[in-house]
Amino acid sequence: MSDPRTFDPGIRGSVAVLPDVPALWSYSSLKAVETCPRRYVLSRATYTDLWDRTGYPEVPSPAALFGDVVHDSLEAIVRALAAQGCTSASGPEAISVLRELGGYSEVAKAMLAKRLARLDDNPRLAGGGRERLQDQLEHRIPEAREEVQHYLHRMTLVPRQSAGSGPNSRGASPRYARGVGSHPEATLQADELRAWGRIDLLTVRPVQVDITDYKTGAEDESHFDQLRFYAVLWDQDNVSNSSRTPLGTLTASYPSREVTIEAPDAAQVQTLAQQLSARVTTADELVQSDEPAARPGDHCAFCAVRPLCTAYWPTTPEPASLKRGSWFDFEGTVVERNGIKSWWLHDLGPRKGPLLLRTTSAHHAFEPGQRLRLLGLRRDEDPDSEVAVAVLAQTSEVFLVTGESDY
Ligand code: SF4
Repeated sequence: MSDPRTFDPGIRGSVAVLPDVPALWSYSSLKAVETCPRRYVLSRATYTDLWDRTGYPEVPSPAALFGDVVHDSLEAIVRALAAQGCTSASGPEAISVLRELGGYSEVAKAMLAKRLARLDDNPRLAGGGRERLQDQLEHRIPEAREEVQHYLHRMTLVPRQSAGSGPNSRGASPRYARGVGSHPEATLQADELRAWGRIDLLTVRPVQVDITDYKTGAEDESHFDQLRFYAVLWDQDNVSNSSRTPLGTLTASYPSREVTIEAPDAAQVQTLAQQLSARVTTADELVQSDEPAARPGDHCAFCAVRPLCTAYWPTTPEPASLKRGSWFDFEGTVVERNGIKSWWLHDLGPRKGPLLLRTTSAHHAFEPGQRLRLLGLRRDEDPDSEVAVAVLAQTSEVFLVTGESDY
């Protein structure tokens, strides 16, 4: 067994044990490594000095968390309806299933609680961040309920037939021959391609299979790439698709409408499978590289590991160029204290000028000479000065740079 590969990004408490290539690639993991190999690797590394979990701790946005709660609620309800042989979310059986679950709002609350529990020991949310998210999301439960109802209103389920339509008797694997019926959260796997996916709703009919994916965000062309990826998995999964049921339709289900396209034909599936094989080979190489490439772009603004990435910081905007109220990131050195709750910082490069950093508490103990990476500052102004002013808000994060890594 080879020694684990480690990397010190030069941020206090953030030495990373880098991940190996995954046994199987999902659509989202392939897309992640192709967008920025460095983000993929650092996001999935292990940081034993930071916490016990795998991956770099993320700070989810309220919007992303809301989408997760809607998606999880929908999955839980569809799973319960399908298990009871319901064909829709209305009718006496469905009402009884929903009553048993406690109703839409109770399901959404339970899913929110599960999502928040995952954030309990997140070091980046210490100091009230988790509670702030909880407050914001609890207020949106009625909205989540309404959104879930919109999806369910359009949904039609096909009752499962007995033969080959449930998990195998050992119950050890989520993979089994998918018989006629609706299968929520169906795992598909193409062994030779080393690819897998979990389909939100796989509907096997006697003559074709239809694939539906629930999308809680805005419509995007990439959603159809993802559906075509699932089509390849269905075609190549010898366990789930042992009866070789042909592909039918692919549907992206959005909050207010569905968009359905025809599944690729056999020749197109072959081409897609070849392309997927090549992507997996490239993805393996990118992950194994000693220096996974950084690909800065607009996506950096949503990158959880940007505090660790030296390629990101030279791309941050000049504070003086920003309007009051804008949110921005800044890397600089502490020069001296200005007042009880304010500090002078100097940018490391020639591009930017000094920054007057105001804090909301007198307890921030910066030391002159410290190099800091500051996430989520709010641009402010001082009527008596031309110098750029920024506020270290409640949600801002401070990272102490301890090294000179080039990664
Ligand atoms: S900050 Fe940008 S370049 Fe750096 S790892 Fe994240 S996505 Fe990649």
